Amino acid sequence: MLLSIETRGPHSDELSYLLHKRPDRFQSFDASFGKVHVFYPRCDDNAVEACVMLDVDPVAMARKHRDDNSPLAAYVNDRPFVASSFLSTALSANLGTAMAGRCHDRPAAVDRVRPLAVRLQCVPVRGGEAFLRGVFEPLGYEVEAITHALDPAFPAWGESAYLTVTLRIDATVRDVLRQLYVLVPVFDNAKHYFIGEAEIEKLVEKAGDWLASHPMKAAISRRYLRHQSGMVRRALGRLENDAEESPEDSPRDVEPSAETPRLHDQRHAVVVDRLKRLGVRRVVDLGCGDGKLLRRLVKEPSFSEIVGMDVSVRSLEIAARRLRLERFEVTEFRFGEPDAGTRVRLMQGSVLYRDRRVAGFDAACLVEVIEHLQPRRVDAMAAVVLGHARPRHVVITTPNAEYNAVYGLAPGQRRHRDHRFEWTRAEMTDWCESVAERYGYDVAIEGVGDADATLGCPTMMAVFSIRSTGEKSEGSDVGGGSDA
Ligand code: SAH
Repeated sequence: MLLSIETRGPHSDELSYLLHKRPDRFQSFDASFGKVHVFYPRCDDNAVEACVMLDVDPVAMARKHRDDNSPLAAYVNDRPFVASSFLSTALSANLGTAMAGRCHDRPAAVDRVRPLAVRLQCVPVRGGEAFLRGVFEPLGYEVEAITHALDPAFPAWGESAYLTVTLRIDATVRDVLRQLYVLVPVFDNAKHYFIGEAEIEKLVEKAGDWLASHPMKAAISRRYLRHQSGMVRRALGRLENDAEESPEDSPRDVEPSAETPRLHDQRHAVVVDRLKRLGVRRVVDLGCGDGKLLRRLVKEPSFSEIVGMDVSVRSLEIAARRLRLERFEVTEFRFGEPDAGTRVRLMQGSVLYRDRRVAGFDAACLVEVIEHLQPRRVDAMAAVVLGHARPRHVVITTPNAEYNAVYGLAPGQRRHRDHRFEWTRAEMTDWCESVAERYGYDVAIEGVGDADATLGCPTMMAVFSIRSTGEKSEGSDVGGGSDA
């Protein structure tokens, strides 16, 4: 079984420092299942490729674990050839320092985001290519998969469950190794070792910062913990607590906002009206919550395709009920092409991860969503929505912090306990202009709700419209003195 990690460009020599393995030697290590070899097929000024080869010894293993029911299976199985939980064991035993993000000789290399290509020879994927893509693509990987026939001599037998996988990403070596460590056994869905409580710790430690908002976190944790439901629940609870957002337990319902219900309705009315005037037909509501905006959209026949996405399954369930959707599933296989002919769909997902299911719409809305994100993650949302999904228009609304005085809030106090920040008009303008510039959009900001003469309107709404290529940047009508 072979894992190869390749990087190119000016800092590629750092790879061997990060892995703590010398590029000029073929190194071998003992493992419980056989041997692990680390070597570098390529190491020059332009590119460095490191390989981890697992030499699984089925005979030695069969001696250790006798299975009297199936005496042949111990000798004749796929373990020597496939990427399995043995790879995770090898990674943590032999590349543990790299996974921990320690590099004494080149400390600056640890956090360097670099182009990486990871090749895995033969991944047994239960759920096939769709599942594979569903796991890696939201993390930002470009996935290439070749499915192997069960037996090339008998094409009628169809395809095997084995894929050769190439993953490309700009990321740190540490993050990629941690993701492989967790995810490789997830595809295989069979672990060679006992799953105890310690596995929860390993999962939280290796995946705490990326799994909590992964759209398939439940499926991944379930498979990682071998479907032991008690442990899966505890792991999900831990992940959610450790994550900065815990939308499942959003205090939204218990803690009323300082805003009036009228403003909430007004906001949705203004957004729908704007989408209609922009000629939008296919729209995705990101962070749709319990579906209030969706219900307005459904009533307008001009919208031909309406998709709601939220990170919270609980909210989606409420939305499905209110929309009277007959079919609503949050399953691990809702990836791939949208089912044709369905006008309204809901899906679980996060605005912090690339997701091709929400790409290419006429418009995306984020109504009162961004203030629920960690401030340092707002730019990641922009990269996902404006940079990757690239709808023609993006409508973002968020509270105007200056207006909070009208609600009798003390300076610095937010409207809602779940808000991680609230911007002033100037902060909103700065951010919108900078991301519009970065991703080639024009932006206009306006106010929603009854305006105060000096403090502006309670809600700020930014409408981004994609600049057609070759067109010169038009002066956008934002300006610090917008009427928000
Ligand atoms: N847009 C709705 C709900 C706003 S409340 C409305 O106007 O009524 C904010 C919503 O954002 C919540 O439903 C929350 O679950 C969702 N959310 C928070 N973080 C998210 C993320 N990273 N990706 C997608 N949705 C998210």
